[in-house]
Amino acid sequence: MAKPLVYNATLVERVDLTDALCLYRILPDERPAPGWFTPGQYCVLGANNEVKPELGSVRRSMSIASAPEDGGPIEFYIRYVGKPESDNPLTHLLWKLKNGDRMYMRPVAAGVFTVKDTVGVDDPRLRVMVAAGTGSAPFVSMVRSELRRNPKADLSQWVLLHGASYAADLGYRDELNRLVAEHGLRYWGTVSRPKDSPGWHGDVGRVEQFFAPDRLGDLEARLGLPPGGFTSKSAVIFICGLQGTIGTTITNLCARGFVPDHKRMREALGVAAEQPATLFYEQYDTEPVIDIKNPDVVAPLAAQLAAALKSL
Ligand SMILES: Cc1cc2nc3c(=O)[nH]c(=O)nc-3n(C[C@H](O)[C@H](O)[C@H](O)COP(=O)(O)OP(=O)(O)OC[C@H]3O[C@@H](n4cnc5c(N)ncnc54)[C@H](O)[C@@H]3O)c2cc1C
Repeated sequence: MAKPLVYNATLVERVDLTDALCLYRILPDERPAPGWFTPGQYCVLGANNEVKPELGSVRRSMSIASAPEDGGPIEFYIRYVGKPESDNPLTHLLWKLKNGDRMYMRPVAAGVFTVKDTVGVDDPRLRVMVAAGTGSAPFVSMVRSELRRNPKADLSQWVLLHGASYAADLGYRDELNRLVAEHGLRYWGTVSRPKDSPGWHGDVGRVEQFFAPDRLGDLEARLGLPPGGFTSKSAVIFICGLQGTIGTTITNLCARGFVPDHKRMREALGVAAEQPATLFYEQYDTEPVIDIKNPDVVAPLAAQLAAALKSL
């Protein structure tokens, strides 16, 4: 049993978007120094189980959705996990909290899922951000930060593809649509259960299907690229979410020369050590992204990737 946490933060505001999706705005007692995190990083939230103290405390990583330049509370975009794996799920404790309640937030950011730590801030290619569910949080932080630093920022280098089951689950939609209208952000939401989303006229299907071979031409047209132009020469990929989204995006994009950053995956795909990575991901669950030990899975992908890299 994890020992009780000493609370060091206050939930100042929760915004329930649906029954299972909520924004948490949390203020640590000790304000971290300005610039204490880079957009794309996460920190650890925690709580003690007050109802069943015998279960102790629980801590989980959560991506930061606010911008480092924002003063005040730190924002998180959190999904209630209906079928938890542990007997003391954090999201079930978080859902009981109300404004003003105390909790734990480790005021230290972690992770290298940032532009700075991957391709570098001067990389001129399109930054294609692929998000499933609450996986949009780090990307919201990134584009917000661009605007905080330059209120007139041109966001046309940023492409956000956001998938959810229902239209109501596409959190931040209004804010992102404003960035489309005013700053040139390229943003498309997609809904995998359109029949249950009356009034939805946008894209349908899971977000990783934007990269299906028969749909890449459409994405290229939207991005102003010529047919076949969506490659690791024109774009870099950032994916955030659960295993299915990450694995299928990688599988779909090997033929376009996108090289995963993950060390063992690179080795399995036969990528030379000096080949720079162009596809980065942050995974919220623990399922293997791709079965890299299975030659039937890896061999065709390795062949596609090698052929694509040769032709670029
Ligand atoms: C770096 C990092 C950043 C994260 N950022 C966020 C975030 O911004 N927002 C967020 O909602 N979650 C985020 N998560 C997931 C989060 O850490 C927890 O795993 C999740 O909240 C479930 O915790 P729990 O204690 O309620 O459930 P537990 O019973 O402990 O279950 C944990 C398991 O739930 C599954 N799971 C995790 N996330 C989801 C999900 N979204 N939908 C369905 N199943 C899931 C996984 O299999 C995970 O192993 C992040 C995870 C990591 C590693």
